[in-house]
Amino acid sequence: MRLRNIAGSREVIADSNFTVKDPEKKKGLWKKEIFGNNNELHIEIGMGKGRFLMDLAALNPNINYVGIEKYSSVLLRAIQKQEQLFLPNVKFIRMDAEDITEVFAPAEVDKIYLNFSDPWPKDRHAKRRLPSRQFLGRYDQILKPDGVVEFKTDNKDLFQFALDEVEPAGWNLDAVTYDLHHDPVMNEGNVMTEYEEKFSSLGNPIYKYIVSRKG
Ligand code: SAM
Repeated sequence: MRLRNIAGSREVIADSNFTVKDPEKKKGLWKKEIFGNNNELHIEIGMGKGRFLMDLAALNPNINYVGIEKYSSVLLRAIQKQEQLFLPNVKFIRMDAEDITEVFAPAEVDKIYLNFSDPWPKDRHAKRRLPSRQFLGRYDQILKPDGVVEFKTDNKDLFQFALDEVEPAGWNLDAVTYDLHHDPVMNEGNVMTEYEEKFSSLGNPIYKYIVSRKG
């Protein structure tokens, strides 16, 4: 998702109390300094306009949520929504997730969500895909030993790629569905993302996996 450049979006983000500036300075300190509690920390990478993250945060006030988004024009929409909701357990970072290990310490994160990640269809761009083995290697460095990655998409090729990456990256496939909305077990408590609502309304099945690191 990349919206038309919105004049002033970088300034709004810089001034917002909901975004964390210089996030690498908070490495290892997210719970204590940013949220002031010892609750679990869940992050969404490629959050878009933040609907999923904020809906989850409203449902789970005892979990801390950090949304990560690369583009200012998109993050601005999430900030505008949070200015109305004022959820105390939500913060945002504008950054490229390639640098995620600079921002979170080993075992600092309890869960990672990837939703409708950009497909990067060219083979030579495979390592930019958020469920690639290169990214799983980064997630490995910040997740708790029993932490999980949950990934949803309607893109069949990207999902097959993601499944193929699990074993070589040294992860376990804990659960998988090729039609989330008709899977009574995996769909229980499902919170829809913006893209999920859009593509499922067109009749596309939604794929989902949950993976964890090998012990
Ligand atoms: N997760 C949302 C949803 O499901 O509605 C948005 C999906 S949108 C297709 C993917 C989002 O991921 C875009 O907003 C894009 O800017 C962001 N993104 C892609 N690669 C990223 C990266 N390396 N770091 C941070 N954000 C990224």
